[in-house]
Amino acid sequence: MTVRTRFAPSPTGRLHVGNARTAVFNWLFTRRAGGRFILRIEDTDQERSTREFEAGILAELRWLGLDWDEGVDSGDSGPYRQSERRDRYEAAFRRLLEKGEVYYCFCTPEQREADRGRDLKEGRPPRYPGRCRELPAEEVSRRMFAGERPAARFRILEGTVEFEDLIRGPIAFDSRQIGDPVILRGDGWPTYNFAVVVDDVEMEITHVIRGEDHITNTPRQLLLYRALGAAPPRFAHLPLVLGPDHAPLSKRHGDTSLWQYQEKGYLPEAILNYLALLGWSSPTGKEILSPEELVAEFDLERVGRAAGVLDPVKLDWVANQHLRRAEINRLVDLAIPILEAGGELKSPVSPGHRAWLISLLDLLKPSVSSLSQIRDSDAMDILLRFNPENSLSDPEVRKDLGDPRCREVIRTFASLVPSDSPLDAQTYKQAAQETGKRTGTKGRDLYHPIRVALTARVSGPELVKLVPLIEEASRLEFPSPVPGCFDRATSIANLAGEAL
Ligand code: GLU
Repeated sequence: MTVRTRFAPSPTGRLHVGNARTAVFNWLFTRRAGGRFILRIEDTDQERSTREFEAGILAELRWLGLDWDEGVDSGDSGPYRQSERRDRYEAAFRRLLEKGEVYYCFCTPEQREADRGRDLKEGRPPRYPGRCRELPAEEVSRRMFAGERPAARFRILEGTVEFEDLIRGPIAFDSRQIGDPVILRGDGWPTYNFAVVVDDVEMEITHVIRGEDHITNTPRQLLLYRALGAAPPRFAHLPLVLGPDHAPLSKRHGDTSLWQYQEKGYLPEAILNYLALLGWSSPTGKEILSPEELVAEFDLERVGRAAGVLDPVKLDWVANQHLRRAEINRLVDLAIPILEAGGELKSPVSPGHRAWLISLLDLLKPSVSSLSQIRDSDAMDILLRFNPENSLSDPEVRKDLGDPRCREVIRTFASLVPSDSPLDAQTYKQAAQETGKRTGTKGRDLYHPIRVALTARVSGPELVKLVPLIEEASRLEFPSPVPGCFDRATSIANLAGEAL
């Protein structure tokens, strides 16, 4: 048997972490099994579905590194958009109608609302009371002939519906809890439960892997399989994804959409890795896994029942580990548009800028998780936004500039920075040593004031690595000119000379 799975998003928005995780689990499971992965678009909600959202979802899945064997762009079990499959739903409905499995329902929205209100008031879950279940055939014909457009409901018979969930084990539902569901609306559009079953049957889906929020739909769907005379697939319901506070994910949890990670310059393989860990763990205990390793190791048996918790700290750790391993030129390519958009770089980017970015990324890679964190880093501020006047608003810098011992080191160092040639790592070390000798300082007493002199800040990356980057930046063109070490040290020494 060839495994056939599907991911079936509704194009009514962008992918959020929860449904991206569902896509990832389907993809990993299918690739490991050597099966076929199908991307189906569930666009029966005509008001909210758009082609833009559909295109966005496809692009987001591709960004994540997922591919599919059949979908709106390829495959021969299509069409793969539900809106283009209405004849199939109609045909399946006719078959059910002939077998007496469905009936027409003329209830008005007002009647249904009243039913609902009554059920809730009496403390029952809302359920269709079966008003049109036994309408005489003549009445149905007469009303349809008169122009009424009834919905069609599926007749649920009393009994127990049982299935073995691949994650949650045996599950049983009492069908008396299920009201006869609408399968076709009065306007001819199918409902979710009906369309999904007709499609899964026709597309020969063997495994349905989806969020736990769909578990209560499963008994209805199983009864529909039975009525259509089709063998059901295996079901695997994934635990929910919650926010760090264990509440359902929402905007207030920060980034919960895939595109936000893409836009911030997270590496797709890092997000894939993190999403795989939301409910699954590797048998080796390893947490940092390449896409190939994930495919080789993924197994539904290792998916737990506990909710996955989206933890931004863990996500950043995973992302940092991947960033450290990534090829530097690729990182530069990803960083450039982010820096251009942020106004740090002007296009076109010269080979000199690229070389500078390589050194910068090498320096910052160990401490960031995404390329936008490079843009927002202290190092970037130090390099491209050096501003001695502004630095006075930092009380710690102010304190240092007011401290006589600190001032002496700053002035001495400034006098030792050559005005006509750039500092490299070597000349920088010499100037620092000489400053130490002349002022009788060492260690923090020496290097802290030098840091202030070159960066107008009290902390930041290692100076010996920063200095060549400052000098290189001062020779390149940036949206605003970057002062070199001599200019920096001189202006800070002047500030330190003023009474503060
Ligand atoms: N369109 C449904 C959703 O996005 C698919 C559910 C299913 O996999 O059956 O939740």
